[in-house]
Amino acid sequence: MPEVIGELVLSGEVVCPGIGIGRVCLLEPAPVFEKGQIGPEEVLSEQQRYTSAVELARHHLREHIRAIHDDTPQHAQVIVEVHKAMFRDEAFHDAVRKRIASDLKNAEWALEEEGCVLMSQFEMMRDPFIQARVEDVRDMVTSIMKALVHPGQNTARECGRHPENVLVSAHLHPSAALLAQRSGAAGFVTTSQAISSHAAILLKGSGIPSVAGVARLMDEAHDGDRIVVDGHDGLAILRPEPWTIERYREEKRCFSIVNEVREPRGCRTADGVPVELLGNVGNPDQADLVLQKGLEGIGLFRTEFMALERNQVPTEDEQVEIYAQIIRKMEGRRVVIRTFDLGADKEVAGIYAYSGRNPAMGLRGIRRHLLREREELQQQLRAILRAATDGNVGVMIPMVTTVADVVAARKALSKAREDLLRWGLPCGENVRFGVMIETPAAALVIHRILPEVDFVSLGTNDLLQYTMAADRDNEDVVPYSDPDSEAFLWLLEFVINEASDALRAHDVTVCGEVASRKHMVPKLIKMGYLSFSVSPVMADEIRDVIASTEQG
Ligand code: PEP
Ligand code: MG
Repeated sequence: MPEVIGELVLSGEVVCPGIGIGRVCLLEPAPVFEKGQIGPEEVLSEQQRYTSAVELARHHLREHIRAIHDDTPQHAQVIVEVHKAMFRDEAFHDAVRKRIASDLKNAEWALEEEGCVLMSQFEMMRDPFIQARVEDVRDMVTSIMKALVHPGQNTARECGRHPENVLVSAHLHPSAALLAQRSGAAGFVTTSQAISSHAAILLKGSGIPSVAGVARLMDEAHDGDRIVVDGHDGLAILRPEPWTIERYREEKRCFSIVNEVREPRGCRTADGVPVELLGNVGNPDQADLVLQKGLEGIGLFRTEFMALERNQVPTEDEQVEIYAQIIRKMEGRRVVIRTFDLGADKEVAGIYAYSGRNPAMGLRGIRRHLLREREELQQQLRAILRAATDGNVGVMIPMVTTVADVVAARKALSKAREDLLRWGLPCGENVRFGVMIETPAAALVIHRILPEVDFVSLGTNDLLQYTMAADRDNEDVVPYSDPDSEAFLWLLEFVINEASDALRAHDVTVCGEVASRKHMVPKLIKMGYLSFSVSPVMADEIRDVIASTEQG
């Protein structure tokens, strides 16, 4: 390990404001996978999938080796060389492929079992040097598993619950963000720049001080190092001097969130135009922050996060309770509940993911509901209606692409209503119906969608990803995920102009992350957008930006 002395200040971009003081806990890959039985006709494709994953893992290893600096300690280079040799062990790979065919198991399962066989063979050896190869096998299995489960993605290793842990990761994936929440981490720092990824959204929701895009982080941070996360100026301070820690302790004391419910405060631009400011939440607890920040309501409740947290979709009755709780808390302020946007990177174990080769373009959001999981949609719509007997509630559909999607979803809502009435169950009468505009196709036919709905909300994270053909979770294409891109700005302006022409501008909200980015808000206001739903942690900053922007 290189010598690690002296304070080092690294800069990045704020994901979630706040100050975190603690010790580095480095995250390592530990992919989660599903065991699946396959049919005889799938054997060949599973074997091919395995072979491709081995190739991909080898490729990653080659990249890793290329990236090794000259000063890498000798023993680390030896480990990498051994690792490389293990990948060439065709006998092992053949055994996995055979197991796929004989046991009709999916590639992940077969890999895990064959890995265990090989590890136990090494464990039985007397020679401690050979015994130590167990770890190398484990490493190889993990690398291939990673390539199988999510090519190019890391998942986080479990990290003990410790209030001092600051999670440090090369990647920004939902599993890591959930881990940060679960383990009560003091902070989160990453080299990844994917700040509109779902993981970043989860972090914002958790209130954990987080900074992204910190270059050199993984070279400089070591497990157990002291670290300060400055979620105001976007800094990660490694091995801080005692006086730095003291200064930040003081700042942290001052930053504590005011724990009182503020009256909802409408905002106005500098030239007096009223602007609606709502909050995005992922669970009922986060509604407290919406209230504390004086926001006018909840513009987006990402219900799928409940499913991600539990690793399964809650039952209809459980949902009724959760929605009722959040509606009660908001005391008549607006609450927009989005139906499960599962699929793509938001997968729940135990649910067949239907990922395909291109999961973001596959069965996601309303497509998954309409084409595969009709009953899950009906249950959720019923749960929302049952909970919405009081309050000002909207139901919102994610990932619509065509007018037909919108009409089908509206019919599903009518059916849920009819079923409840027929069964004599409570049913909210004034629930408004809305959709997310987050595919370019939907944006381009906004004039046809508006007559079918009560409101729309722009999901700019996905709208940007699909317009620019740049995966929001892929750090390699971050330069293409620029919300200032000409094509994207054109599309945003097109949507609000169409809505204004239809006299429906007041029914349009922006709920994606561009509404929480300070430099984007003035542009949106000048285009004519007058309703924003933001990460509650960013509410004060965005309110200030609105107040200092002139619309005219
Ligand atoms: C969006 O796409 O902008 C959005 C708000 O939805 P999500 O980030 O959950 O996909
Ligand atoms: Mg979206």
